[in-house]
Amino acid sequence: MAFDKQTFWEDISAAGTIGIAGHIRPDGDCVGSALGLACYIRDNFGKDPIVFLEDLPAAFAFLEGADKVLTGFPSSEPFDLFIAVDCGDEGRLGKAMNYVKEARKTYCIDHHATSTGFLENNLVKPEAAATAQIIYTLCDDKGISKGCAEALYLGIVHDTGVFKHSCTTRETMEVAGALLDHGVSSSRIIDGTFFEKTYLQNQILGRCLMESILCLDGRVIFSAIDRKTINFYGLGPADTEGIIDQLRVTKGVEVAILIRELTPRSWRVSMRSCEIVDVAKICTLFGGGGHVRAAGATMSGSRRDVINNLTAEIEKQL
Ligand code: 5GP
Ligand code: MN
Repeated sequence: MAFDKQTFWEDISAAGTIGIAGHIRPDGDCVGSALGLACYIRDNFGKDPIVFLEDLPAAFAFLEGADKVLTGFPSSEPFDLFIAVDCGDEGRLGKAMNYVKEARKTYCIDHHATSTGFLENNLVKPEAAATAQIIYTLCDDKGISKGCAEALYLGIVHDTGVFKHSCTTRETMEVAGALLDHGVSSSRIIDGTFFEKTYLQNQILGRCLMESILCLDGRVIFSAIDRKTINFYGLGPADTEGIIDQLRVTKGVEVAILIRELTPRSWRVSMRSCEIVDVAKICTLFGGGGHVRAAGATMSGSRRDVINNLTAEIEKQL
């Protein structure tokens, strides 16, 4: 069904219970969108949505409402209204899909090019740099508190790689500017949640760069983190954030690939491209998805199988 802004807010106003969830392995935009929207609803409608996230990376714990996020998915009465943010399909919503199935009304707010429109009402804008940017445009600026602004700003910062990726537009900058007017400390969010790395994160970044391999005449760079390394360092998903971005800016590279072994012969794939290759298209072929310049998938096989399958697809596009 087509999304209607006025109906959306009327539905929120009429709902007794509201649930909000984002995608599995939540990133900055996912967390910022969920907490920003929850905060806006709390401040302007006097109701307290329950936010479900699979995990809450420690760097985001200062956000308003983060302390109330449920990282488990307990069974509950059906929600009157359930909103999925930054998530384009059933598989990516993970266990929160159970709430969606039972909810009386469902909404999806997302910006992934591969979004399937899987809920009752879908607002999908692939041209938006972040889901948090879309959420801002739904809100009345006068109703945005500092806590809400911090969450939305954080979402935009993370999905644009600090206003650097090609998805960053004039609108992105204008929304970010408007959010700054609500008292957001940009350096706290940019340095504190994006650039700051733990010693462990720096060590694994260094290792991935050192062990990276160039292929297809230096147009593809690839690095892998296997189970042994993950266990040795005790790495969580958040510990490898940013590595792919450093790989991508290698001179001459068009596509960067980072793979992390989840279980034996099952790999979490991250891909980034610069100007030519549509990585969402490639990841979709292997059951994943994402954006044209940033996408992911889960693939099985040996490290060599995964890299061969991916580079064969990249070669077709180069
Ligand atoms: P990342 O490499 O940071 O994990 O993901 C890059 C982008 O692709 C993110 O916007 C993320 O939401 C999306 N993405 C990553 N993995 C998958 C996947 O398995 N399926 C879909 N549909 N999108 C994914
Ligand atoms: Mn996003």
